Parts: sequence; structure tokens; C-alpha cells
Amino acid sequence: MTSKLETVLHNIRTAIDNIGVEKKTTARDVTLMAVSKTQPIDAITSLLDQGQRVFGENKIQEAAGKWPILRTKYPGIALHLIGPLQSNKVRQALQLFDVIETIDRPKLARAIARISAEENITCDCYIQINIGREAQKSGIDPDQADDFIALCRDELKLSIEGLMCIPPAGDDPKPYFTLLRQIAARNGLKKLSMGMSGDYQTAIACGATSVRVGTAIFGPRTPPT
Ligand SMILES: *Cc1c(COP(=O)(O)O)cnc(C)c1O
Repeated sequence: MTSKLETVLHNIRTAIDNIGVEKKTTARDVTLMAVSKTQPIDAITSLLDQGQRVFGENKIQEAAGKWPILRTKYPGIALHLIGPLQSNKVRQALQLFDVIETIDRPKLARAIARISAEENITCDCYIQINIGREAQKSGIDPDQADDFIALCRDELKLSIEGLMCIPPAGDDPKPYFTLLRQIAARNGLKKLSMGMSGDYQTAIACGATSVRVGTAIFGPRTPPT
């Protein structure tokens, strides 16, 4: 029987193959991040047993309860934070996560720079862009992206790998993915974290280097208790 993971991996390969030469992107190699928020340990273990190693969680507390144990059993895990981070949780986040994808304001960027120096931890980071300029969403406004990237990289010396976005629900995501790619390109950033269960193939066509897929791999999320 084909697992949902295999199906998604197959779809990713197909989407990569379908990228025309004329649209040649950096997306030749696309990382699948399995978004395991709200998923129980045995569902995660099943993916780990199938070889999946890159995971995303959106809450510090929840990640703290699941991942330190799993890391002792499975080598090579890369855990990404994809949810909002409060400045007072930065120390804990740096201990739990390999990559923080949600740097979205100067105060947080400064806290990460200071605390990673104190703890002598280097952490790869992404800047979250509020690509649809939605009031309720976190992220840097696209118009302020260049200045914020410069602050993070040049002044704070953070290791900024790329950009992350969540397009407005219900809209055609293509123009948003394309805008994210343009912001990254003009700032010399190579990585684009974009695309979820409903639109990861589109994201790959638009240049995603990693896609964040939850329900298409795990099935529906179990509501938090
Ligand atoms: C939950 C979540 C995902 C995964 O969403 P699915 O639709 O289940 O694939 C991706 N990115 C972020 C930031 C999320 O919070």
C-alpha cells in the first residue's frame, strides 16, 4: 500500500519534473517538511520509520513535549519552527529547533541575535513575509522586506537562509509565491519556504525550495485538547 507520505513525495517529484526549462528555478531540490502540529507521537514515529526527517511545529510547548524524546531515538532530525515566536521564548526555541522560519519583527530578530550569542548556538533562520498584507497575519510587510533583511543579515549577523510566507486563504496563491520569489532574488536569498497541502505543487512551480505539508501526509489534524 502506498502511504500518504509516498504520494506526496511522488507529487513533489512530478511538480519538479514539470518545471519548464524556461522557468528554471532553484527548486530543483525541494525539501518536504512534514508539519506535525497536533499529531500524536505514533503518527510521527510512523513517518520517521519511513525515513522522513524534516518536521515543522508551530508551538514551543507542544514541540518540547514531543521532540526531545524522538531525537534520542532517531538521528538526523531537522525541526523547524513555523509558528509565531514570543521574545521571551527565544532561549527555549533555540534549544528545541534547528531552524526558525518565523522572524517577523526587529525585536524578535534582536532577541535571537543576543541569545544565540549568549548560548553559543547558531540557528538557521527564515524571515516571514506577510505576503498578502493581511492585518491578522504575522510577517514583515513586503515593502519593508529589503530593510528588514538588511537589518537581520548585516547588522545582527543572523544566518538568514530565505523567506517564508502563507498566502491569503482562498486567493490564487501564484502571485503571492511569485512576489516572495522576487523579494528573495533581489536580496540574494536562495531558500523559499512556501506551499502547504492545498498548493504545494503550485509553490514548486513558482520556485519553492521547501514545502510545509501537514494534512496531506497525516490526514486531518486531531484538535488540541
Ligand atoms: C499548519 C501549517 C502548515 C500545514 O498546513 P496543511 O494545510 O495541513 O498542509 C503549513 N505551514 C504553516 C505555517 C502551518 O501553520
